Amino acid sequence: MKDTPRHFTTQLAVIGSGIAGFAASIFALNRKIAIAQVGNSGALAYTTGYLDLIGKRNDAVVSDPWQALAKLRESEPKHPLSRVDAGDIQRAFTEFTDFLGACGLAYSAPGAGNITALTPVGTLKQTLCVPATMAAGPRALTANSPCVIVDFKGLKGFSGVELAANLRERWPQLTTQRIGFPGMERGEIYPEVMARALEVATTREQLAEALNAVAGTATVIGVPAILGMHRPDQVRAELKRLTGREIFEIPTMPPSVPGIRLRELFQQVLPQKGVSLIPQQKVTSLSFDGDGATLALRDAFGPIRIHAQAVILATGRFLSGGLDAHPAGIREHLLDLPVTQAADRADWYRARYTDPRGHPINSAGIEVDDSFRPLTREGRRYHERLFSAGVILAHQDWIRGRSGAGIAIATAFKAVTEAERFLAGRQAMFPGAPPVQCH
Ligand SMILES: Cc1cc2nc3c(=O)[nH]c(=O)nc-3n(C[C@H](O)[C@H](O)[C@H](O)COP(=O)(O)OP(=O)(O)OC[C@H]3O[C@@H](n4cnc5c(N)ncnc54)[C@H](O)[C@@H]3O)c2cc1C
Repeated sequence: MKDTPRHFTTQLAVIGSGIAGFAASIFALNRKIAIAQVGNSGALAYTTGYLDLIGKRNDAVVSDPWQALAKLRESEPKHPLSRVDAGDIQRAFTEFTDFLGACGLAYSAPGAGNITALTPVGTLKQTLCVPATMAAGPRALTANSPCVIVDFKGLKGFSGVELAANLRERWPQLTTQRIGFPGMERGEIYPEVMARALEVATTREQLAEALNAVAGTATVIGVPAILGMHRPDQVRAELKRLTGREIFEIPTMPPSVPGIRLRELFQQVLPQKGVSLIPQQKVTSLSFDGDGATLALRDAFGPIRIHAQAVILATGRFLSGGLDAHPAGIREHLLDLPVTQAADRADWYRARYTDPRGHPINSAGIEVDDSFRPLTREGRRYHERLFSAGVILAHQDWIRGRSGAGIAIATAFKAVTEAERFLAGRQAMFPGAPPVQCH
């Protein structure tokens, strides 16, 4: 009995629960497409929370990502961002951040230019959208406001002294202080535990008192990203009220609270909105026939089969398991799709780690056509029902381009648009198509 599969029938199956997978589910939900999503834990918990579009190009800092996008189209037409209309990219970011805001995790809207944001070590990076909890930091930096960075005894990987030293020239009015975190004054402490503790009013009151005791004449206080897990905007607003000063977060080293916040929000909200979300699991096989696609996987209760009319593959690269690197070459894990890569393993990396051109392995990935359907070795569509999104796509080095979330969100938008077109075509051809079911 335990091995009798449970069957789900849906319109769209999304494989992957990184930013691309979750963005695809959000876009599909907004288009009233029935969705099942499966994903193991991936890179999401590592992200800073910033949503980058293009932060660097040819090793130079980019302040206008839209202009950089226009240049990218000319120089790298195969780059996934070059293959999505700029208006659609803007719409995708707006739809994604609006959804987060409506679910209680406010983000700045995508603007005309990049925001200069702080990294955990006090360097600066260019990004398109920042969580509302972090927005006061870039503003205070630009205004050179009197600001104190407060770090905590026992918290590793976040040093106010390091931040202030690296930012001294840009931000002369920046100082730093170290305090104990309320109730965790001894031993090692962790951002996730601190964030959950700040969901409690008493901890917030005690922290506000401790912050005020060291803030001196500073009008702005920067802290590591610990301002609550589920209601960070409220936690920040209350600390602002209690201290009478502007408060902002700075991302910490991974795993980071802003990434965990995103993951927990998606896992909580999407099922409430009707997505059949199967978290912490991997699809072990994906097959297609005339009726649709079948995904096979297993959870603690036994095997599961998902029958879908269309599938979006958003399984990421090496860290998340979408691609595997073997001595003989790089392989796509689920369907053995051809992977564009250097001809020889010896060419994966350049001799110098800091080579400004980057390393060829970081641009490996699968090929898609203009409808974001993966291609076979012969250059044909793998299947009309299969679409792909995210950093599994070839011809981009998202780390060098500072474009991780941008590639994920833009290509998810495109893949969902194309999947919707396909599903609408099927509906027109087969008006009696079965409704979405779970049994
Ligand atoms: C340390 C770090 C910091 C980052 N900082 C930033 C930042 O500041 N700004 C920014 O814009 N981006 C940042 N990113 C990038 C961002 O988090 C994403 O990695 C990126 O947007 C790619 O998203 P993705 O969904 O395509 O892939 P991933 O995030 O890699 O997600 C792939 C998903 O597919 C799942 N998967 C794989 N195989 C299967 C299978 N067989 N069945 C089911 N699921 C499967 C994985 O478990 C995972 O959930 C950072 C990433 C890292 C690692």
